[in-house]
Amino acid sequence: MNNDILKTLYSKKDIEVACKRLANEITEYYQGKESPLVVGVLKGAVIFMTDVIRQVDAYVDMDFIDVSSYHGTTKSSGKVDLVTDINSDPKGRDILIMEDIVDTGRTLKFLIENLTKRGAKSVKVCTLLDKPEGRVVDTHSDFTGFQVPNEFVVGYGLDYEEKYRNLPYIGVLKPEIYQNN
Ligand code: 5GP
Repeated sequence: MNNDILKTLYSKKDIEVACKRLANEITEYYQGKESPLVVGVLKGAVIFMTDVIRQVDAYVDMDFIDVSSYHGTTKSSGKVDLVTDINSDPKGRDILIMEDIVDTGRTLKFLIENLTKRGAKSVKVCTLLDKPEGRVVDTHSDFTGFQVPNEFVVGYGLDYEEKYRNLPYIGVLKPEIYQNN
Protein backbone atom coordinates (compact mmCIF):
# COMPACT_ATOMS: atom_id res chain seq x y z
CA MET A 1 0.00 0.00 0.00
CA ASN A 2 2.79 2.48 0.89
CA ASN A 3 4.25 1.93 -2.58
CA ASP A 4 1.18 3.60 -4.13
CA ILE A 5 2.00 6.92 -2.45
CA LEU A 6 3.82 9.57 -4.49
CA LYS A 7 4.58 11.90 -1.57
CA THR A 8 3.69 12.46 2.07
CA LEU A 9 1.89 15.73 2.82
CA TYR A 10 1.48 15.32 6.61
CA SER A 11 3.36 12.79 8.70
CA LYS A 12 1.97 10.84 11.65
CA LYS A 13 3.74 13.34 13.93
CA ASP A 14 2.28 16.39 12.08
CA ILE A 15 -1.20 14.88 12.52
CA GLU A 16 -0.67 14.17 16.23
CA VAL A 17 0.34 17.79 16.82
CA ALA A 18 -2.67 19.09 14.86
CA CYS A 19 -5.11 16.80 16.75
CA LYS A 20 -3.80 18.01 20.10
CA ARG A 21 -4.12 21.65 19.03
CA LEU A 22 -7.68 21.10 17.79
CA ALA A 23 -8.63 19.25 20.99
CA ASN A 24 -7.36 22.20 23.03
CA GLU A 25 -9.34 24.67 20.89
CA ILE A 26 -12.50 22.56 21.21
CA THR A 27 -12.04 22.11 24.97
CA GLU A 28 -11.72 25.85 25.38
CA TYR A 29 -14.68 26.65 23.14
CA TYR A 30 -17.11 24.30 24.92
CA GLN A 31 -16.17 25.29 28.49
CA GLY A 32 -19.31 26.38 30.33
CA LYS A 33 -21.58 25.18 27.50
CA GLU A 34 -23.91 22.16 27.48
CA SER A 35 -22.23 18.97 26.27
CA PRO A 36 -22.08 19.10 22.48
CA LEU A 37 -23.22 16.34 20.17
CA VAL A 38 -20.14 15.48 18.14
CA VAL A 39 -21.23 14.18 14.73
CA GLY A 40 -18.60 12.30 12.75
CA VAL A 41 -19.06 12.16 9.00
CA LEU A 42 -18.62 8.54 7.90
CA LYS A 43 -16.36 7.05 7.03
CA GLY A 44 -13.51 9.47 6.41
CA ALA A 45 -13.65 11.35 9.73
CA VAL A 46 -13.74 8.34 12.06
CA ILE A 47 -10.01 8.01 12.70
CA PHE A 48 -9.57 11.77 13.08
CA MET A 49 -12.62 12.09 15.36
CA THR A 50 -11.48 9.39 17.76
CA ASP A 51 -7.98 10.88 17.98
CA VAL A 52 -9.30 14.38 18.68
CA ILE A 53 -12.17 13.74 21.10
CA ARG A 54 -10.08 11.50 23.35
CA GLN A 55 -8.07 14.62 24.08
CA VAL A 56 -11.06 16.94 24.58
CA ASP A 57 -11.61 17.73 28.25
CA ALA A 58 -15.39 18.23 28.14
CA TYR A 59 -18.46 15.98 28.24
CA VAL A 60 -19.44 15.09 24.68
CA ASP A 61 -22.02 12.82 23.06
CA MET A 62 -21.01 10.96 19.91
CA ASP A 63 -23.01 10.24 16.80
CA PHE A 64 -22.37 9.54 13.13
CA ILE A 65 -23.88 10.57 9.83
CA ASP A 66 -23.16 9.20 6.39
CA VAL A 67 -23.47 11.29 3.26
CA SER A 68 -22.09 10.62 -0.15
CA SER A 69 -21.07 12.87 -2.99
CA TYR A 70 -17.98 11.28 -4.45
CA HIS A 71 -19.32 7.86 -5.33
CA GLY A 72 -15.82 6.36 -5.37
CA THR A 73 -14.16 8.69 -7.85
CA THR A 74 -11.71 11.57 -7.41
CA LYS A 75 -14.17 14.26 -8.57
CA SER A 76 -17.24 15.45 -6.66
CA SER A 77 -20.55 14.54 -8.31
CA GLY A 78 -22.12 17.79 -7.09
CA LYS A 79 -25.11 16.11 -5.45
CA VAL A 80 -25.09 15.24 -1.76
CA ASP A 81 -27.17 12.30 -0.53
CA LEU A 82 -27.97 11.45 3.07
CA VAL A 83 -27.08 7.77 3.38
CA THR A 84 -27.41 7.20 7.15
CA ASP A 85 -28.81 9.75 9.59
CA ILE A 86 -27.73 10.40 13.20
CA ASN A 87 -29.65 8.51 15.91
CA SER A 88 -29.90 11.52 18.23
CA ASP A 89 -32.39 14.37 17.91
CA PRO A 90 -30.41 17.50 16.93
CA LYS A 91 -33.15 19.83 18.26
CA GLY A 92 -31.76 22.28 20.82
CA ARG A 93 -28.28 20.74 20.69
CA ASP A 94 -24.89 22.35 20.23
CA ILE A 95 -23.47 20.28 17.38
CA LEU A 96 -19.87 19.82 16.36
CA ILE A 97 -19.48 18.25 12.93
CA MET A 98 -16.22 16.37 12.46
CA GLU A 99 -15.18 16.18 8.78
CA ASP A 100 -12.15 14.70 7.08
CA ILE A 101 -11.87 17.33 4.33
CA VAL A 102 -13.80 20.31 3.02
CA ASP A 103 -13.36 20.59 -0.75
CA THR A 104 -16.25 22.08 -2.77
CA GLY A 105 -18.01 22.72 0.55
CA ARG A 106 -21.23 21.08 -0.70
CA THR A 107 -21.20 18.30 1.90
CA LEU A 108 -20.66 20.73 4.75
CA LYS A 109 -23.30 23.17 3.52
CA PHE A 110 -25.78 20.30 3.20
CA LEU A 111 -25.01 19.09 6.74
CA ILE A 112 -25.16 22.53 8.35
CA GLU A 113 -28.47 23.34 6.63
CA ASN A 114 -29.95 19.94 7.46
CA LEU A 115 -29.06 20.12 11.17
CA THR A 116 -30.05 23.79 11.46
CA LYS A 117 -33.45 23.11 9.86
CA ARG A 118 -34.01 20.37 12.42
CA GLY A 119 -33.55 22.84 15.28
CA ALA A 120 -29.89 22.54 16.28
CA LYS A 121 -28.97 25.35 18.68
CA SER A 122 -25.54 25.78 17.10
CA VAL A 123 -23.53 23.98 14.44
CA LYS A 124 -19.74 24.22 14.51
CA VAL A 125 -17.32 22.42 12.24
CA CYS A 126 -13.98 20.78 12.86
CA THR A 127 -12.17 19.50 9.78
CA LEU A 128 -8.84 17.79 9.49
CA LEU A 129 -8.18 19.23 6.04
CA ASP A 130 -9.44 22.27 4.18
CA LYS A 131 -8.93 22.62 0.44
CA PRO A 132 -9.90 26.28 -0.14
CA GLU A 133 -9.09 26.21 -3.88
CA GLY A 134 -11.79 23.60 -4.40
CA ARG A 135 -14.58 25.70 -2.90
CA VAL A 136 -17.76 26.03 -4.98
CA VAL A 137 -20.25 27.01 -2.26
CA ASP A 138 -19.71 29.43 0.61
CA THR A 139 -18.99 27.57 3.83
CA HIS A 140 -16.25 27.48 6.45
CA SER A 141 -14.74 25.42 9.23
CA ASP A 142 -14.35 26.69 12.80
CA PHE A 143 -11.51 24.36 13.80
CA THR A 144 -9.11 23.39 10.99
CA GLY A 145 -6.16 20.99 11.00
CA PHE A 146 -4.36 21.87 7.76
CA GLN A 147 -5.04 23.78 4.55
CA VAL A 148 -4.14 21.50 1.66
CA PRO A 149 -3.35 22.25 -1.98
CA ASN A 150 -5.83 21.22 -4.67
CA GLU A 151 -4.66 17.61 -4.93
CA PHE A 152 -6.48 14.37 -4.25
CA VAL A 153 -5.17 13.10 -0.92
CA VAL A 154 -5.52 9.77 0.88
CA GLY A 155 -4.72 8.30 4.27
CA TYR A 156 -5.69 8.79 7.92
CA GLY A 157 -9.35 8.09 7.09
CA LEU A 158 -9.41 9.43 3.53
CA ASP A 159 -9.90 6.81 0.84
CA TYR A 160 -9.57 6.15 -2.82
CA GLU A 161 -12.16 3.52 -3.75
CA GLU A 162 -12.37 2.55 -0.05
CA LYS A 163 -8.63 1.86 0.21
CA TYR A 164 -5.83 3.74 2.03
CA ARG A 165 -7.99 4.83 5.01
CA ASN A 166 -5.59 2.95 7.29
CA LEU A 167 -2.46 4.81 6.17
CA PRO A 168 -1.19 6.52 9.35
CA TYR A 169 -0.18 9.64 7.37
CA ILE A 170 -1.69 11.78 4.59
CA GLY A 171 -0.29 11.54 1.11
CA VAL A 172 -0.85 11.94 -2.59
CA LEU A 173 -1.38 8.87 -4.76
CA LYS A 174 0.80 8.11 -7.75
CA PRO A 175 -1.16 9.24 -10.85
CA GLU A 176 -1.06 5.75 -12.38
CA ILE A 177 -3.23 4.43 -9.52
CA TYR A 178 -6.29 6.41 -10.64
CA GLN A 179 -5.40 7.32 -14.24
CA ASN A 180 -7.00 4.17 -15.65
CA ASN A 181 -10.41 4.98 -14.09
P1 5GP B 1 -17.06 18.42 -0.67
O1 5GP B 1 -18.53 18.17 -0.56
O2 5GP B 1 -16.54 19.51 0.22
O3 5GP B 1 -16.64 18.62 -2.10
O4 5GP B 1 -16.31 17.10 -0.29
C1 5GP B 1 -16.35 16.56 0.93
C2 5GP B 1 -16.06 15.08 0.84
O5 5GP B 1 -15.41 14.72 -0.38
C3 5GP B 1 -15.11 14.68 1.93
O6 5GP B 1 -15.80 14.31 3.09
C4 5GP B 1 -14.36 13.53 1.30
O7 5GP B 1 -15.04 12.33 1.52
C5 5GP B 1 -14.36 13.83 -0.17
N1 5GP B 1 -13.09 14.44 -0.63
C6 5GP B 1 -12.87 15.71 -1.02
N2 5GP B 1 -11.58 15.92 -1.36
C7 5GP B 1 -10.96 14.72 -1.17
C8 5GP B 1 -9.60 14.29 -1.33
O8 5GP B 1 -8.67 15.01 -1.71
N3 5GP B 1 -9.37 12.98 -1.02
C9 5GP B 1 -10.34 12.13 -0.59
N4 5GP B 1 -9.97 10.88 -0.31
N5 5GP B 1 -11.61 12.50 -0.43
C10 5GP B 1 -11.93 13.79 -0.71
